[in-house]
Amino acid sequence: MMSGVDDPHESLRSSPSKSIVDVDRVGIGYRQNGRHVPAVGEATFRTRRGERTVLLGPSGSGKSTLLKAVAGFLTPDSGSIVVDGRVNPGPGPDRAVVFQEFDQLLPWRTVLGNVTYPLRVTGTPKNRADTVAREFLQMTGLQDAVDKFPHQLSGGMKQRVAIARALAIEPLLLLMDEPFGALDAQTRGRLQRELVDIVVRTRATLLFVTHSIDEAVLLGDEVVVLGGTPSTIVGRVDTAGLADPDDPEFVTARKTLRGLLTDTSEDLTHATFE
Ligand code: ADP
Ligand code: MG
Repeated sequence: MMSGVDDPHESLRSSPSKSIVDVDRVGIGYRQNGRHVPAVGEATFRTRRGERTVLLGPSGSGKSTLLKAVAGFLTPDSGSIVVDGRVNPGPGPDRAVVFQEFDQLLPWRTVLGNVTYPLRVTGTPKNRADTVAREFLQMTGLQDAVDKFPHQLSGGMKQRVAIARALAIEPLLLLMDEPFGALDAQTRGRLQRELVDIVVRTRATLLFVTHSIDEAVLLGDEVVVLGGTPSTIVGRVDTAGLADPDDPEFVTARKTLRGLLTDTSEDLTHATFE
């Protein structure tokens, strides 16, 4: 992995206890029909270097809103988001985002071209960008698809490209918003296990959004649960090291999370739990 004097994030990478993102009493809403409608009432959480934080909540609980705010696409109405010491920063290559939609790739570029693009934009020389891109495409099992175009790929392959592209820039923080939500259960299960493996190997710091309890327990070191309208944080569960869905500790965490979700879901007509 890239590190050393050229690495702008070196101080944070080598300081495990420091927060990479610190979300402090953040409230965010949207303008609708000329008035302000709060979506997230108040949310506080942090992610330290090398940690995996999962935001879990029913549909409409403000998960995507919070992730977009951490990515810098939305500014909080109240509270603050501190990323790498900067307050409410705009979007930047220190935070790579993978969305749920399959259309996040550039259709006129090959798989390799899609992964090299952000590297080239941030100043990586072509040969180096190609080498790094191939390395991450290998890691995501796409070594035989480098010359294909997005329209020639399945949904699962497109999400792998998006993940390879996000990992390849070695972001300080990897942000993922239900990247496997639109995949069939089998592909989703395989990609979840691969993602955990890759995230551990690359020592990436992850903020992951999902409405699936099992996905949250599998991927998270800590699961932060959102609920209510406007939403607040209704609980936190330590899920570090839980990888086997039949493990008694996994079962306990699942029950706790299900309880937290059910307690706050009475007023949600479109809640979707798994
Ligand atoms: P989640 O990702 O948990 O499903 P969202 O963050 O997408 O939830 O949405 C939270 C709330 O904010 C919902 O009530 C949703 O309708 C509202 N919302 C989201 N995006 C917009 C928008 N662009 N304009 C107005 N309201 C929005
Ligand atoms: Mg969402």
